[in-house]
Amino acid sequence: MPGNEVYFEIDGEGGKIGSMRGTVGKSFLIIWLIALLLWIPSCATNPVSGQPELMLLSEKDEIRLGRQTDAEIIRQYGLYEDKKLSAYLNEIGDKMVKLSHRPNLAFHFRLLDSSVVNAFAVPGGYVYITRGILAALNNEAELAGVMGHEIGHVTARHSAEQYTRAQLAQLGLGLGMVFSDTLRGISDFAQLGVGLLFLKFSRNNERQADELGVEYSTKAGYDARQMAEFFKTLERMNPGPGKSGLPSWFATHPSPEDRVMTVRAEARELQEALGVRNLKIGRNEYLRHIDGLVFGEDPRQGYEKDNVFYHPVLRFQFPVPPGWKLVNTASQVRIINKKRNALILFSLATGNTPRDAADTFVEKTRALVLRTAETRINNLPAYYIVSDIRTQNGILRVLSYFIKKGKHIFVFHGAAFPSLFGKYRPTFEVTIRGFKNLSDPKKINVKPRRIRIRKVRLTGTVKETLISLGVPRRELKRIALLNGKTLDEKLQANTLLKVVQK
Ligand SMILES: [Zn+2]
Repeated sequence: MPGNEVYFEIDGEGGKIGSMRGTVGKSFLIIWLIALLLWIPSCATNPVSGQPELMLLSEKDEIRLGRQTDAEIIRQYGLYEDKKLSAYLNEIGDKMVKLSHRPNLAFHFRLLDSSVVNAFAVPGGYVYITRGILAALNNEAELAGVMGHEIGHVTARHSAEQYTRAQLAQLGLGLGMVFSDTLRGISDFAQLGVGLLFLKFSRNNERQADELGVEYSTKAGYDARQMAEFFKTLERMNPGPGKSGLPSWFATHPSPEDRVMTVRAEARELQEALGVRNLKIGRNEYLRHIDGLVFGEDPRQGYEKDNVFYHPVLRFQFPVPPGWKLVNTASQVRIINKKRNALILFSLATGNTPRDAADTFVEKTRALVLRTAETRINNLPAYYIVSDIRTQNGILRVLSYFIKKGKHIFVFHGAAFPSLFGKYRPTFEVTIRGFKNLSDPKKINVKPRRIRIRKVRLTGTVKETLISLGVPRRELKRIALLNGKTLDEKLQANTLLKVVQK
């Protein structure tokens, strides 16, 4: 959770608590409904293949959908504020867009504040790069390759096609299970509006995006063989999903077989065909741009330690039930038990008083209220409700506490199916009643770790160099990998290297 904005929206229609703000969630759904009602398949020409194809989305719809989705993604994951770095991404991206199959489409390149190694695109020209993937990249050519790949998904209209497929599924025309989720009723309640975006592309789509990434980055003057090098680094890293709930590039990109070899061969062929040599790699230039980049989870946005969640900016803490899994996103904190049949949601709420915020909640969810009362939580004014909320997968019983601390109203929802509610209620209460002011300076004065760029003084192995730069032994392998290197590789003096420090 960030420290400054109120992000929370309750959507009354489906009994869902989304994490979007204001009316965005609702209008997003409305666009979907309109798209379904006005479903008139049209034949469009694919910008990349030049072949006619069946499309449910016109370019105008595609852009509109992209804009709506973009707002949700930003609310969900948050932007990483760094004007210089954003300008750098735009510069590289725009250069490739001009040479692409859709040079007139306005692209938007967003830097997301997530430690997860990922990049993705949505229809209408929205491309997302996480700070996590920037930390893992080692030169400008690799970055251009990744961005070119994502631009390729947009120019070849892969995501539009994907939306089309999702719509077909909604219309009952097959392909089902697009919206499958292990949490069922609970997930209706805690639904992420953007889940749909992380459908996997087909291997053919990936193959084509790789090819387009090679094409666009080569034409923009980069050595696309570096893209293959990055895929190799990624395979060695095999990053799993992060705590922020965003899936990794591995999860959203089914890897075509022999991807590394294929990309390398395509790059070489294109370079020969175009007669270009000595293309740009831009290692030093790239590394200078990411010097100081936040690495890993940023504790200033909240962190869990020894079964307590601390928020140093908003100055609160609460206990986390042992064994439950906490996911901290830009908009909410979700805590889920092992059996995945109970959930605690925590976020900011809107309203002047706890009572106000509770009324808004009831109105928007059309909750059937069973009990309410004014109360205090560690001396903070609070209001609680027990209610039943209808979801697509049945009734959920929800214990909600609205708590005022300073100028903010915070809300906890403990949710389970009615038959299990009694069993989990004591756990919900322990967490919620443990909410209190955070005053311990040690817990408040936390700093994120950052990428620091260091110059190698003497020729030696990566291992020797990293030790001389103060990298702890247990992190040697990981930091070497972050640099796309192995520990026994030789380094020349004056080489730049990434290390991770506070
Ligand atoms: Zn892809």
